Amino acid sequence: MSKSTYKVLILGAGAGGISVAARLKRSLGDSEIAIIDPSENHFYQPLWTIAGAGLMPKEQTVKKQKDLIPNGVDWIKEKVIAIDPVTQRVSLSSDMMVGYDFLVIATGLKLNWEKIEGLNGNLGKNGICSVYQYDQVDAAAKMIQDFQGGVALFVMPPVPIKCAGAPQKIMYLAENIFRDHGVRHKTQIQFATAGKAMFGIPTFSNALDQIVKDRNIEPLFLHKLSGVDAEKKEAIFDVTDSEGKVSRKNIKYDLLHVVPTMSAHPLISETSLAVQEGDQKGWLAVDKMTLQHLKYSNIFGVGDVTGIPNSKTGAAVRKQYPIVVKNLLAVMNGQMPVEKYDGYSSCPLITEIGKVMLAEFGYEGKLMPTFPLNPAVPRKMYWHLKKDLLPVLYWNAMLKGLG
Ligand SMILES: Cc1cc2nc3c(=O)[nH]c(=O)nc-3n(C[C@H](O)[C@H](O)[C@H](O)COP(=O)(O)OP(=O)(O)OC[C@H]3O[C@@H](n4cnc5c(N)ncnc54)[C@H](O)[C@@H]3O)c2cc1C
Repeated sequence: MSKSTYKVLILGAGAGGISVAARLKRSLGDSEIAIIDPSENHFYQPLWTIAGAGLMPKEQTVKKQKDLIPNGVDWIKEKVIAIDPVTQRVSLSSDMMVGYDFLVIATGLKLNWEKIEGLNGNLGKNGICSVYQYDQVDAAAKMIQDFQGGVALFVMPPVPIKCAGAPQKIMYLAENIFRDHGVRHKTQIQFATAGKAMFGIPTFSNALDQIVKDRNIEPLFLHKLSGVDAEKKEAIFDVTDSEGKVSRKNIKYDLLHVVPTMSAHPLISETSLAVQEGDQKGWLAVDKMTLQHLKYSNIFGVGDVTGIPNSKTGAAVRKQYPIVVKNLLAVMNGQMPVEKYDGYSSCPLITEIGKVMLAEFGYEGKLMPTFPLNPAVPRKMYWHLKKDLLPVLYWNAMLKGLG
């Protein structure tokens, strides 16, 4: 049974929500915290690239939410439809309302599939796939594994998106699979990115430039996907030239891996909780160091929803959630939030089956390697870290609030 008011309400039971709940529970009593999320399942999304290439069953990336919600934390299995930061209440899909003293927003982000014209009804069919959604992972795996040659086109939308490396990780895995299946010689691979470079940080971008050159992959910069013509098998791009002029260009494909633009859910983006101007417009307005809301001191944010200039990953959440918990407890005790997030994020860039370049960095692109090795070199040990060790740490340590 849920109560009408909680000391702490956590919205979203993904990577950030569960980790915060688990750690916070150690300092608060039973039923002082509730977590709200309608989803029966909890996904470990970082393995969707590997599953989406057909290299592991997608079922290995999912667990039941009921087995992950910490004991003593109430689970309200509903969708939040509105937040009123003034009356300190949230409205649920059942028309119920729940009050809070403190709020943690961890609702992740929204994939804007509807912004790709002509895509509706064609995702997972007719050569169009994506590893960005659990129910699409098997279709992507089948299309990549069964590919018989032609043009394989991989799309990277404008940032911010979650795991900005994933649109090319799946491409390198696919390229490896085409080689293994003997169809690479009759396959042309293109990477159409809305950005100006392969990655936002020169150390990694330069190394990736060399990799695409060596693998005969054609990068197409400043190409922003606007639609698809599924019947003609053409992807439609807005291309910006060197003078900033935008023109339309259609590219024929046989296989198209799409990634949509992303935003915070309207529950945030269309309210006073969001950043109102600039690069972070529409994302949750929190301080980039303390993760406390800029307007409402009893609200914190964690994970993909936050409007901060970092890179949106589970690795970022791993660094953020202990800071949110410490700062939240400080504010509850009438103190200032003093713990600071340094912008750390990590993108284990899969460059082929069995090798990963471990890109770790903080605010302003500062390199933050965990290991004393050249971070731009793909290594076998990082593949095992990504594929085998990090998932174990996620389920058994991070989601238990242990690190
Ligand atoms: C293909 C892919 C590859 C990735 N690779 C990596 C990687 O290699 N390394 C890495 O670190 N990260 C990676 N990520 C990113 C990582 O998964 C996310 O950054 C991380 O899950 C963010 O955590 P979160 O808690 O902010 O959001 P999520 O984990 O997405 O959780 C959000 C939760 O909020 C809930 N929710 C949403 N709206 C509402 C609402 N209205 N009411 C209640 N609940 C709501 C959802 O049901 C969900 O449970 C990848 C992601 C993808 C898709």
